[in-house]
Amino acid sequence: MRILVTGGAGFLGSHLIDRLMEQGHEVICLDNFFTGTKRNIFKWIGHPYFEMVRHDITEPIRLEVDQIYHLACPASPVHYQYNPVKTIKTNVIGTLNMLGLAKRVKARFFLASTSEIYGDPEVHPQVEEYRGNVNTIGIRSCYDEGKRVAETLAFDYHRQNGVDVRVARIFNTYGPRMQQNDGRVVSNFIVQALKGIPLTVYGDGSQTRSFCYVSDLIEGFIRLMNNEEHTGPVNLGNPGEYTILQLAQAIQAKIDSSVPIQFETLPKDDPRRRQPDITKAKTWLGWEPTIALEEGLKLTIDDFRDRLSSQ
Ligand code: NAD
Ligand code: UDP
Ligand code: UDP
Repeated sequence: MRILVTGGAGFLGSHLIDRLMEQGHEVICLDNFFTGTKRNIFKWIGHPYFEMVRHDITEPIRLEVDQIYHLACPASPVHYQYNPVKTIKTNVIGTLNMLGLAKRVKARFFLASTSEIYGDPEVHPQVEEYRGNVNTIGIRSCYDEGKRVAETLAFDYHRQNGVDVRVARIFNTYGPRMQQNDGRVVSNFIVQALKGIPLTVYGDGSQTRSFCYVSDLIEGFIRLMNNEEHTGPVNLGNPGEYTILQLAQAIQAKIDSSVPIQFETLPKDDPRRRQPDITKAKTWLGWEPTIALEEGLKLTIDDFRDRLSSQ
């Protein structure tokens, strides 16, 4: 198949491209390099089945493809809050353009949505039926509300135009190739511990997150995209739930137990807790994560160590 991956030079997109190329597909990677980098897809440049297109999805584009994995959007709060108007344009106008493309060429369309659409959840763990608790005017809204509109657009194109859609709600994912300056908690703590500087825990560290290793997530993407029965939305994430303080301690223990923890102000609208209910992914896709946090952290730390030492 010929497959388009928007945001393909980013963290998740580049891991997805590795899998699709290994399966023998033709892949078009579309990216504006806002948070992605050519380094992530370097090994495929020059391959006859790989094409790189530098393009901003807020502008229309015509391509001929069979499937579209739509991932383009900055994912870390630091990056999506850098230019919030651009973030919402990417989610709304960008997703509209990619759905228009899917409609024209009759391609199956996969949306990388997020657990953030649940906001600061009152239902725990989060099931797909839960409609969320999101601030419409807060500093995270450009992302949360943007993704909510993106889901709405996907289902409207599905009902109105017969576009074949798949919607994944992705929970916090980590692994090799996360950017060092990404601002996300796993990358921050690992970089800090490796540099021997204090780990910055926001608030008292009692807020929770559930961390999925990247290879598990990508397996879920491919299963959902190629499932003939279910459109979703489907939660994809690892149900193992940890407080941020526990995560800091786990990384301390793995890298340097003498590095101190420094408590800093909790950002506004930071969700208190997050854990996926993955019953649907299990029953519909036969999918569940296989890599525990301990093992995934080790693989991720090895990658950061290599990159930091080669700088
Ligand atoms: P990332 O920032 O590494 O990748 C996003 C990619 O999109 C980058 O390569 C960036 O350059 C590109 N991009 C951004 N705006 C663009 C635009 N207007 N036009 C073209 N390209 C553009 O982030 P990621 O972690 O790989 O996330 C990928 C997708 O998965 C995002 O849609 C994100 O919302 C979603 N997601 C990720 C997580 C996670 O934990 N990583 C969790 C939930 C949802
Ligand atoms: N679009 C695109 N590539 C295509 C087809 C459409 O970028 O191959 C864009 C198009 O420019 C429009 C959006 O997708 O802005 C929605 O397209 P659709 O055909 O659904 O709506 P319309 O063009 O009628 O507004
Ligand atoms: N966090 C932290 N220290 C950091 C970065 C993040 O304590 O250096 C916290 C953040 O406040 C949040 C959690 O870790 O409660 C996850 O943050 P991240 O930005 O990785 O993801 P998100 O908030 O989007 O789930």
